[in-house]
Amino acid sequence: MQKKKKTILVSGGSGFIGSNLCRKLLLDQNNNVICIDNNSTGSLTNLEGIIEKPNFKFIEHDIVEPLEIEDKIDEIYNLACPASPSAYQGKNAIHTTKTCIYGAVNMLELAKKNNAKILQSSTSEVYGNPLEHPQNEKYFGNVNPCGKRACYDEGKRCAESLFFDYNRIYRVKIKVVRIFNTYGPYMDINDGRVVSNFICQALKGEDITIYGNGSQTRSFCYIDDLIEGLIRVMDTVDDFIGPINLGNPHEYSIISFANIIKNKINNKINISYKPLPNDDPIKRKPDVSLARKVLHWEAEVSLQEGLDKTIKYFSNIL
Ligand code: UDP
Repeated sequence: MQKKKKTILVSGGSGFIGSNLCRKLLLDQNNNVICIDNNSTGSLTNLEGIIEKPNFKFIEHDIVEPLEIEDKIDEIYNLACPASPSAYQGKNAIHTTKTCIYGAVNMLELAKKNNAKILQSSTSEVYGNPLEHPQNEKYFGNVNPCGKRACYDEGKRCAESLFFDYNRIYRVKIKVVRIFNTYGPYMDINDGRVVSNFICQALKGEDITIYGNGSQTRSFCYIDDLIEGLIRVMDTVDDFIGPINLGNPHEYSIISFANIIKNKINNKINISYKPLPNDDPIKRKPDVSLARKVLHWEAEVSLQEGLDKTIKYFSNIL
């Protein structure tokens, strides 16, 4: 069935997840899309093929500041925030917290004014270094509020709290999604994440850098699966507000992931070991039973297939 054409605002629309989402909402579903980004970690090059379309509008704006939009908005996806540890920590840490919190308030106010549905991109980081495995939405998490990751983890936790309060107090139609590690085309080549680092190191014939001994685990979801999940969450009935996990439950140790990349790209390269960053979670794997039940969704793209597409993307831009 053809969906009704909507006007959809995507904050963080020129980032990795945002640009993939804008592409889908615009090209496959023929909506009007308003993309908001300050291009701190996103980039206009991620918007190739859509930026020139008549039903696409790009507004350069930092969501830490309030925003007036003339168009009547039906839906908002709040994705704006640096998401890679190297981008959100250090000198950017305070701005990261502001982006999470002031950004949430500004986007929620926009949703309230427009009577729009709003989806918050929360994160598996709200579970911190989890003491329960896999992580279910009912788990409250184990976050160090004083650590280097806290600007992001606690920022995202506070943003969730703001979303639920806007729903309780003002009846704003919210959806809170906890996104687990995701990879694919339009990831920032320099953002220091494990997938982009390992692929680019292997393509350049450099050592693969493992932090710690590589026994820590992550579960990697291909971007197309995530985008499908996000849109399905947005389309749920108003009573469904989350939180809901989206991710791929196949878990890999970082060392086994390094070997998969070596086997795919270049078996001759070496692995070198570097110190494990503070508070780096030891295990991470989503419990996706709620997504299966409510959305009839689960990740379908295998790691092999997703990596092939991602390697092709990075080979073209290196
Ligand atoms: N990691 C690594 N080598 C790298 C980049 C990351 O061993 O070059 C590790 C990192 O310490 C973490 C995991 O890979 O345990 C995932 O890191 P990423 O930054 O991709 O995401 P996170 O899940 O930590 O936010």
